[in-house]
Amino acid sequence: MIINTIKKVAFLAISASICMGSHSCSDAFDQPTGLIESLDTDTGDEISQGQDLTAFLNDRGVMMQAFYWDVEPRFDWWDIIAEKTDAWAAAGIDRIWLPPASKGQSGGFSMGYDPSDYYDLGEYFQHGTTETRFGSREELDNLIAKAHGNNIEVVADIVMGHNSGGGSEFNPYRMKETFTLFNELNGNASGMFNRGFEDYHPNSIHEMDESALFFEEQDLCHLQDNVQNWFWKFDNSVAKYYKNTVGFDGWRFDFVKSFSPEFVKAWVDEVGGWTVGEFFDGNADLVRAWVADAGVNAFDFPCLFQMRDAFERNDLSILQTGDMLWKTNPAEAVTFVANHDTDREPVIEEEYKLFAYAYILTHPGYPTVFYLDYENAEFQAKLNDLILINRTIASGELEVLYADNDEYIALRRGEGDNPGLAVYINRNGLELSRSVATQWTEQELHDYTGGITSSLLTDESGTVSLKAPANGYAVWSVK
Ligand code: ZN
Ligand code: ZN
Ligand code: ZN
Repeated sequence: MIINTIKKVAFLAISASICMGSHSCSDAFDQPTGLIESLDTDTGDEISQGQDLTAFLNDRGVMMQAFYWDVEPRFDWWDIIAEKTDAWAAAGIDRIWLPPASKGQSGGFSMGYDPSDYYDLGEYFQHGTTETRFGSREELDNLIAKAHGNNIEVVADIVMGHNSGGGSEFNPYRMKETFTLFNELNGNASGMFNRGFEDYHPNSIHEMDESALFFEEQDLCHLQDNVQNWFWKFDNSVAKYYKNTVGFDGWRFDFVKSFSPEFVKAWVDEVGGWTVGEFFDGNADLVRAWVADAGVNAFDFPCLFQMRDAFERNDLSILQTGDMLWKTNPAEAVTFVANHDTDREPVIEEEYKLFAYAYILTHPGYPTVFYLDYENAEFQAKLNDLILINRTIASGELEVLYADNDEYIALRRGEGDNPGLAVYINRNGLELSRSVATQWTEQELHDYTGGITSSLLTDESGTVSLKAPANGYAVWSVK
């Protein structure tokens, strides 16, 4: 088994290096689809036409969370999303975040968050199946190649805190049998990163992690050499195998509250790659502290919860006043509206989602679009408009011009030739307008979301009466 594994690893290393030679996985976008047009065939009114925003491409990409909880059908997921990467790239997606790709205890039913064999990416028969819920190793390789061919980076979801699906052994630290044995015959058919009770808490080093949040029998101890070696230090560690052989470009670390940020830092110091941590907390100070310690990006949970409050309480001033990660750490904040967890019990209700996307796709931070939201037929065209706005005129300093219970108006000041934008969110049941001061003097403005089809004029001081549609939003910029 071990010999087979080494052969396979060597073979895959060769194919991966060929792949890396022929594709460059840069942040460059495919050339996008172009103008947003608004055609009013009903009224025959003169319809405002915007300019081609692609003249203003900035470096702001968008990550697609390319899964939801319990994706169906099982065993086909890698193929399903591989088919979509052309369209996603054209829309401006520059990263996809995949679910944990390795075999979990629940085998073909596992969403990957119960990791058993980190090197079984759908290629060993164990836990009742060879393929993972998402497909075979070959299908994963194909997906990654297709993404790279589209200049899309592929982010691996790393569950480093705990394991599941090992065999039973006597554990002297707990004085009973525990399921902490992982080897070729016990949940680790690859034979790579075999583990035993010393690799879990408690052990000869200590009782538990400093965080002490997770204290099950299979809570990994990251101070153990065996764990560090196999996670990131060895040449065929999980980190290096995923990056150099499988072709993953970056990392999303699961449930980082359950272990010290120093281990995320050590992993990334070893192999690099764009990285985000799931520090699941609405307290922005705690998330900022984690970002400082780990030295990587974090999901902006504070922003998520503030947006929820703003929309649910019908108080959009919370968007201005609420503490969020992006407001202090714009370069490290990964903003989002929904994910595989929140989707099961929505934090932001469906009716508010487009408002939330209009917010994160015009404001600083690196925005994420959730698969089910993007594939929602009622949302997709609107999200495409907002994604284009994000990667073009969502540029320059942000200034909130107005906020009250049902209105929020913010300006991006632009920079250089980039004109910036004004986003106007309106929760009122009527179309509203409000006079604001902008950076544009004597300019005609166009709503690049198409919500308002007539143009507006700014005066010689830049003042304009901006409009937003009833219970909707507009994003204004020069025509
Ligand atoms: Zn430990
Ligand atoms: Zn977890
Ligand atoms: Zn108002």
